[in-house]
Amino acid sequence: MLFKETECPQCQADYDPALQFCPVCHVRNPRFDESKLPKRILFLNPIAQLGMFLVGFAYVGMLAISYGLSLIISTFNLQDYPHLSSTLLLAFTYLIMTLVLFAIPFFTRTKDFINKFTNKLDYIYGIGYAVTIVCVSSIVNAIINWIYPFPGDNLNQETATIIAKAYPLIAFFVIGLLGPIAEELTYRVGLFSFLRRINKYLAIIVTAVIFGFIHFDTSAEDMIREFINLPAYIVSGLVFSIAYEHRGPACSITAHVLYNIFAFIMIFAS
Ligand SMILES: [Zn+2]
Repeated sequence: MLFKETECPQCQADYDPALQFCPVCHVRNPRFDESKLPKRILFLNPIAQLGMFLVGFAYVGMLAISYGLSLIISTFNLQDYPHLSSTLLLAFTYLIMTLVLFAIPFFTRTKDFINKFTNKLDYIYGIGYAVTIVCVSSIVNAIINWIYPFPGDNLNQETATIIAKAYPLIAFFVIGLLGPIAEELTYRVGLFSFLRRINKYLAIIVTAVIFGFIHFDTSAEDMIREFINLPAYIVSGLVFSIAYEHRGPACSITAHVLYNIFAFIMIFAS
């Protein structure tokens, strides 16, 4: 457990045990090396971590932002442009979420946050994890197609396809960049880092399952298609979490962005 305060052996200040150095006198945290703490993942104040999760979580912050924006967008007359209001709603929802999700770590643990993005190796590992996810999710989908041969996209993929074909440039920014960045900040830096204070395996499993279910639409007409596509999302959530535990946010963001760009290209290839 990483919730209890650590007392600095030099200045006796109490501080977060997930920190590598005492924030007051900068002496090394003696518990940090012995406790096999993940050195690459970004720990913020536990309340900031929960806050990030709630800001980006599909059923809390994202829902609220999207509802507020839909009221604004509905005041414009966009009926003549098919799918424009839903595209703008998605784009601005992710834009606002991403800005808030960047602001929380930037203003609460500036140095730690910036440090997590300065190692080139993290990005190279991220490419490796992206390739891994392409392979693993293809295998999972092949197995599911073999069990249930009439699949098809779930609602999440259907929406992505419609928007990508109607407004490819906006869709590229949302699906390829803002979406994966916001999701990594929400589910890895927010949720995973918080649960990681309790237990590593709990963090990996719970984050992957929640990540799977946010791509699952309970309002879909065809629930079978939602369930059939669920395992691939859970598995990709597992790989993103492992990438994050291994090399931190730069790695999992790289993996997620590249994977989504691959998926975006595949929309036009099929
Ligand atoms: Zn100290």
